[in-house]
Amino acid sequence: MKKVDHIGIAVQSIEKVLPFYTETLGLSLLEIEEVQSEKVKVAFIDGGNIKLELLEPLDESSAIASFLSKKGEGIHHVAFGVAGIQERIQELQEKGVRMIHEQPKPGAGGAEVAFLHPKSAHGVLYELCDKTNIKGE
Ligand code: ZN
Repeated sequence: MKKVDHIGIAVQSIEKVLPFYTETLGLSLLEIEEVQSEKVKVAFIDGGNIKLELLEPLDESSAIASFLSKKGEGIHHVAFGVAGIQERIQELQEKGVRMIHEQPKPGAGGAEVAFLHPKSAHGVLYELCDKTNIKGE
């Protein structure tokens, strides 16, 4: 794990919570995009040393929708920046970690991502986030 890349935060509506981040906390909005594979709308906020990833469900089939209905708004996951995500997944599996995704999948910003199963990580949903294949990064 190279560093914490971002913290994912589940929200009902990005539009509604954005003024809290940009006006109340005085942080900058970096970008907003839709990740169809995850059925989420994502807003990245510049948190200085790490980013905050606000996650709004696009429909009820989204994992974020079920998270919100069970737990409400709040911290959803912590993402580690990695290089060579396929090898990192393999290493973790060899160490007995159960993965939600055994293969990387497309995430926000063109990154390749994979999630560890929280039961293998003491209750925390961790994401591996590999941006090394993105041009210009
Ligand atoms: Zn994330």
